[in-house]
Amino acid sequence: MSNVRIGVFGGSGFYSFLDDVRPRVVDTPYGRPSAPLMVGDIDGVGVAFLPRHGTEHQFPPHEINYRANAWAMKELGVTRVIGPCAAGSLRRDIAPGDFVVSDQLVDRTSGRKDTFYDGPVTTHVSFADPYCPELRALAVKHARDQGITVHDGGTVVTVQGPRFSTRAESRWYQDAGWDVINMTQYPEAYLARELEMCYVNIALITDYDVGVEGEIEAVSHAEVLRVFERNNAQLRDLLFALIPAIPEQRSCPCASALRGARVET
Ligand SMILES: [Zn+2]
Repeated sequence: MSNVRIGVFGGSGFYSFLDDVRPRVVDTPYGRPSAPLMVGDIDGVGVAFLPRHGTEHQFPPHEINYRANAWAMKELGVTRVIGPCAAGSLRRDIAPGDFVVSDQLVDRTSGRKDTFYDGPVTTHVSFADPYCPELRALAVKHARDQGITVHDGGTVVTVQGPRFSTRAESRWYQDAGWDVINMTQYPEAYLARELEMCYVNIALITDYDVGVEGEIEAVSHAEVLRVFERNNAQLRDLLFALIPAIPEQRSCPCASALRGARVET
C-alpha cells in the first residue's frame, strides 16, 4: 500500500469511491472524525477517503467535527485535500449538472469551531486565497478532459444551515456577486490551510437556489435526484483521472501557510 498523500472528503450522496480499502480508525485531540478513514490506492497513489457527514449521513453540516476530520487527514500523511460538495447555483448561467472549481469563499456560518490555534501562541493565518492554485488548475483541466461543464473560479457562500435560504437572503447573495451556495466549505477549507494542507473545492451543482428560480421552470424532485446521481458518477471518474496526475512535489504556497503567521513576543 502506498503512502497516503491525497485526502478526499465525500459529500452528500458520495459515501465511497474506492473498491479495495482498509478502514483506519483515527482519534484526534479534537475528538473522533465523522467516520473511519478508508485508505486505498489509485495507480500507486495512496488516498484516504472520509465522508464528512458520516457513513449514515448522521452529521448535519453544523454538527460535523471539522477539526477532527482535518486533523485525521493530516495524521495519515495527507498533504493535498480534495473537498467536493453538493451546492446550489446563485446564477442562471451555472446550471444543475455543472461543476464549479471555486476560487473564493464567503463565510456566513456561526459558532463553528474553526481554528486549531486557540492560544497560547497567537496565530493569524492568511486566507486571502482560500484554495490551492495548483490543484485548482489540475481539477479544471481534468474536468474539461472528461467533457464536464466546469466553471473555472467562483465564490462559494457557506451558510450555517441546516435550513435553506429565504428568498431575500438568496437575492442578497446574488446581488453581492456570489456564485454558489453550500453548508460545509467553511471551516473545512480553512482548517486544511491551518495544517498547511492544499485544499481544492469542486462544487457539484444540484439545483438553483430559491431566489434564482424566477422564470426558470421548477424541476421535479426526480430530476434533482437524476442530476445528483449523474454528478456523483462524473465526480468519481474525475477523481480517478485527477488523483494520479497530482505531483508529489508541491509548487504552491500552501505548504508554508504558517510562515510569519505567529505573533512572537
Ligand atoms: Zn497547494
